[in-house]
Amino acid sequence: MSDVRIDDLPVRDELRGKSPYGAPQLDVPVRLNTNENPYPLPEPLVERIAERVREAARNLNRYPDRDAVELRTQLAKYLTDTSGYEVGLANVWAANGSNEVIQQLLQTFGGPGRTAIGFEPSYSMHALISRGTGTGWISGPRGEDFTIDLAAAEKAIAENRPDVVFVTTPNNPTGNAVPPETVLALYEAAQAAKPSMVVVDEAYIEFSHGDSLLPLLEGRPNLVVSRTMSKAFGAAGLRLGYLAAHPAVVDAVQLVRLPYHLSAVTQATALAALEHTDTLLKYVEQLKSERDRLVSELRAAGYEVVESDANFVQFGRFEDAHTAWQKILDRGVLVRDNGIPGWLRVSAGTPEENDAFLDAVRALKKEQT
Ligand code: PMP
Repeated sequence: MSDVRIDDLPVRDELRGKSPYGAPQLDVPVRLNTNENPYPLPEPLVERIAERVREAARNLNRYPDRDAVELRTQLAKYLTDTSGYEVGLANVWAANGSNEVIQQLLQTFGGPGRTAIGFEPSYSMHALISRGTGTGWISGPRGEDFTIDLAAAEKAIAENRPDVVFVTTPNNPTGNAVPPETVLALYEAAQAAKPSMVVVDEAYIEFSHGDSLLPLLEGRPNLVVSRTMSKAFGAAGLRLGYLAAHPAVVDAVQLVRLPYHLSAVTQATALAALEHTDTLLKYVEQLKSERDRLVSELRAAGYEVVESDANFVQFGRFEDAHTAWQKILDRGVLVRDNGIPGWLRVSAGTPEENDAFLDAVRALKKEQT
């Protein structure tokens, strides 16, 4: 049995020799490697989830609301309240994590014979989900300072005429936001070239110094903004992502979603979390100031840091980032090596976790000089 490997099976050609997404899940005292929110949900919210789930449990003999109407209505309210741009039920779609939202978008607008582009380094799952859906992946350029070089990006769009364009803002793993003018210019370039769908991945927008790009949806039916409850809502374990777009986009993704994809337990839990939005957003404020502290302390310790609008910071430069990653790990702190030569990424944790991280990187600096 054990001598049969993936490549011995009749798997699709594009999956041969590939590895799955795999941030290490190591058991170390301080885990700052997957951009999670370090704060457990507050006890009153835990109680409310238990109550809502108990109610849902009484009906688990039935399929859940296939269209998640109550949840989408509350998500639309959250978006409207926090951005000032009005979206309603018809503009919002939800799925199991924004990864599933992205998968549904690629199943709808990508697929065999079609292509998607992202400006790398960026969120690696855009490329992996493209491959999983049979969509060709084009690695678009980013400047030396990790900003999007508009002229180079426009050229890549014009030359490749992709069907889907990903813009991650704030970007993961570099942390910097993309200016709205750049997103608008990329949208125009994508429409002129094809026209194609532009997906703005705002997984980290609540941590940004700037505003959401939701208002750009006005009059742009080929634009999608994707969001998640994994970061700002501190609910990575819940698996709830969502998008806002023209109602036609919401209708289109329903052509590919599995029936009843969002369990009644998930819908109940997400609704409970949304009732506690104000409390959860207070943790976001704490994390933003801890993020800013990480940026200034890393700089004070002699590291280079990319300006961050997210709940994590990319820092360097290291001659050998992987060795530096291991040395930080040896001091009990897990950060992320994304394979970007010279750089590592750290998620903002609790003040105590961040202190442990800062002690580790200060010690590392001393060792190197
Ligand atoms: N987009 C970006 C940019 C991310 O970094 C992540 C998670 N790391 C996701 C989407 C997916 O998040 P989830 O599936 O948990 O909603």
